[in-house]
Amino acid sequence: MKKLMLLMGLLGGFMTQKSMAQDSPIFPKGEKSPNVHHTGNVWLTELNAPDSVFSYGTSVAISDPDARLNWHIHPGGQILIVTEGEGYYQEKGKEKRTIKKGEVIKCMPGVEHWHGATPKTGVTYIATSPSAKGKTIWLKKVSDEEYYGKK
Ligand code: MN
Repeated sequence: MKKLMLLMGLLGGFMTQKSMAQDSPIFPKGEKSPNVHHTGNVWLTELNAPDSVFSYGTSVAISDPDARLNWHIHPGGQILIVTEGEGYYQEKGKEKRTIKKGEVIKCMPGVEHWHGATPKTGVTYIATSPSAKGKTIWLKKVSDEEYYGKK
């Protein structure tokens, strides 16, 4: 009986640790971003601002299901590292595609594109972008046809 209790205790501790690991994100959720350049709920946390040594900014973006950024251009390009969930990514003139946890997407300088969650699943990604060539250029909203239309 004592052995069984000990085993259950160990198992309980292991399971608690495991579920805590699954439930606690690496970074805080951050602040809800005002709906200026996107549709739906997006939270942003800046991890590092560009400075004289590291000339690129890095942020974590958490998008609720159905949230998506407007079409935009990064003059210096952007890398997206998906850490949770599922989202969409589309470049102008190409089909939109589903992006998943663990994927790294390189968006080349000057390429018009948008990214966001899928309608049913939220997405979290780390976004890093060189700042030397200028700030993000925001364009029109992603239409319902573009967002909900066939993949
Ligand atoms: Mn982008």
